[in-house]
Amino acid sequence: MNIPDIIIAVDGYSSTGKSTFAKMVAKEFAFLYLDSGAMYRGVALAAMEAGLVQEDARFDEPALQALLPTLDLHFRREDGTTKLFLGERCIEPDIRTLAVSNYASPVSALPFVRHFVDDKLHGFAADGRVIMDGRDIGTTVFPNAQVKIFMTAEPVERARRRYEELIAKGEKVTLEEVAKSLEERDYRDSHRSASPLRQADDAYELDNTHMSLHEELVWMLGLLQGKFGLLESPRLSW
Ligand code: C5P
Repeated sequence: MNIPDIIIAVDGYSSTGKSTFAKMVAKEFAFLYLDSGAMYRGVALAAMEAGLVQEDARFDEPALQALLPTLDLHFRREDGTTKLFLGERCIEPDIRTLAVSNYASPVSALPFVRHFVDDKLHGFAADGRVIMDGRDIGTTVFPNAQVKIFMTAEPVERARRRYEELIAKGEKVTLEEVAKSLEERDYRDSHRSASPLRQADDAYELDNTHMSLHEELVWMLGLLQGKFGLLESPRLSW
């Protein structure tokens, strides 16, 4: 289907399936997928490894501010998807742990960290035809994105999905720990002063609590057809 070279912003709470949805759409319609949360996770990992995390998930801010310009965080396309690298090291597995999730949220509340990440995201998306997921893509990073989606799902379902993901990766966590971590992240992400998570006025809401991936893709196709007046209906691969 001939979709123009636009930017698609996908925002929403933690574990609502934003990245799965965005990756699927990217593959289906030949867009570049960029995961903005991975950048915050990358910063959190670098801060942890440099010993900059203090008590109560606080950071040594002057040291972190000095560290940021030295961090070569970038995405590379590998195995049909985009992966985050720190220099030559692929840090995808390291940034997906529960510990990094828990530090990514407070680190992302620091305005100088947001500034650093936003600059990088603008650079990565410079060529357009991008689908990017996060918390503030449609509100702050790309307020002029032509298509904005806000994803939601019921908290119990989100905790279950995330728990199963972590268990499949061999992490030793309980469902209660995962639910608590999600609740804390949601609260922090939507109550911080720097670019809080909120639905953009012109975003389409997608509640996928009871939807399959195929249904999500059909929903997206309908949205794109309606928005761009495309009549032809391609065969979907999902
Ligand atoms: O999306 P993901 O869970 O990987 O993001 C990790 C953390 O990064 C989130 O909990 C959130 O605090 C932060 N984040 C953000 N703004 C974005 C993307 C992620 O603050 N655009």
